[in-house]
Amino acid sequence: MKTTMDPPITLELPLSEPDPAPGCDVCEALARQRAEFTAAGNPSKATDCSVEIRNHPHGDGAL
Ligand SMILES: [Zn+2]
Repeated sequence: MKTTMDPPITLELPLSEPDPAPGCDVCEALARQRAEFTAAGNPSKATDCSVEIRNHPHGDGAL
């Protein structure tokens, strides 16, 4: 008899804050903006920045 109990794996947190890629000016600027939006009490804008960091190709033609 097999019992498969898959524990819920939640590694992807959609609202987590991704780290900016090291050396990527765009990500660093976005991270700065995100901190400013967070400090200003504007979490939806901060999330926009997180999404942009997550989707950024990092360094494509930047270096
Ligand atoms: Zn980047």
